[in-house]
Amino acid sequence: MADASFLQAISVTKTYPGATASGVKNISLDIEQGKITAIIGSSGSGKSTLLKLLYGLMSPDEGVVNFEGERIWGPEEKLIPGHDSMKMVTQHTDDLNLFARVWDNVAAMLPSTNVKFKEEQTELVLTQLNMMNLAKQRVADLSGGEKQRVAIARAIITQPDVLLLDEPFNQVDTSFREGLQHDIRQIVQETGLTVVMVSHDPAEVLSMADELLVLRDGEIVETGHPKSMYKNPQSLYTAELLTNCNVLDAGEASICGMQTDKQYVVVYPEWIRISNVLKTNSWTVRQVLFKGFYEDLILENQGVLIRVVNNEHDKYAEGDVVGLKIKKWLEY
Ligand code: ADP
Ligand code: MG
Repeated sequence: MADASFLQAISVTKTYPGATASGVKNISLDIEQGKITAIIGSSGSGKSTLLKLLYGLMSPDEGVVNFEGERIWGPEEKLIPGHDSMKMVTQHTDDLNLFARVWDNVAAMLPSTNVKFKEEQTELVLTQLNMMNLAKQRVADLSGGEKQRVAIARAIITQPDVLLLDEPFNQVDTSFREGLQHDIRQIVQETGLTVVMVSHDPAEVLSMADELLVLRDGEIVETGHPKSMYKNPQSLYTAELLTNCNVLDAGEASICGMQTDKQYVVVYPEWIRISNVLKTNSWTVRQVLFKGFYEDLILENQGVLIRVVNNEHDKYAEGDVVGLKIKKWLEY
């Protein structure tokens, strides 16, 4: 046999009893070592099921999951479910000892046979995750985001080959989240850790993932690199997962000056420029939504609404009439 794949699913199907359309169907994938793979898909598309199958928390009805060429054992075959070389963190990971300090929660994951190693590793992981300043605090006194950091530190300190993350940052506020995303990327680069993450935050998957995998109704509908997938998603479904885009039917598109024989036209807000050549102005500014460093302008023409990003604050006001230039669009 040629080089065994790292983490691989071959024609894996898992359906839940009673439900007809549930779980995942006929999934084949190869997770690359040392990379971050993100699984995206709408709620109920099978993301968590797939992650549990990769980890060995569930056995497939059909097909097989292999890690380094060996079949992963299911929960009925193993005393402690989950592959020994992997760790999983979810938003419900709650095995923290709330009344112990952060340091002890993390250190407790290692045996006490080598105290020096234990101390060094704990310090290393807390440093990597930017939480040495929290080391002496009780977990009970931490914010939700900080608790998630502790959970991730506990997973990482055991030096797993694979870290599985099932929407672990959901309750973490935005500023905190970006730091954590950056730290995890850094750890992946420094240590060669492999991460498989589930998220439905487009900003998160686009900035973190090396590889994207799109699930719909339990099936993989698209895979690729974040940048190319963002620029040219193969389906409207993927486009809507990755961006807050304008979706127009053919009639609405025609009002915007785009002719198509397909059903839908998708325009990302950043593909639209506002121009002020008076003669062609036919769009009315209906709303100006302040977003911090930019504004969303909602423009209307013959009942068609379109969202445009504007970086120049206060340049436009509700009621202004403007022209639009659409630089690029996609058709489905
Ligand atoms: P996601 O994580 O993408 O939201 P899940 O993998 O949790 O999706 O679920 C996929 C589908 O399987 C959904 O339709 C869900 O309702 C169904 N499902 C998940 N877990 C169970 C279960 N334990 N019993 C029955 N149906 C389930
Ligand atoms: Mg889920």
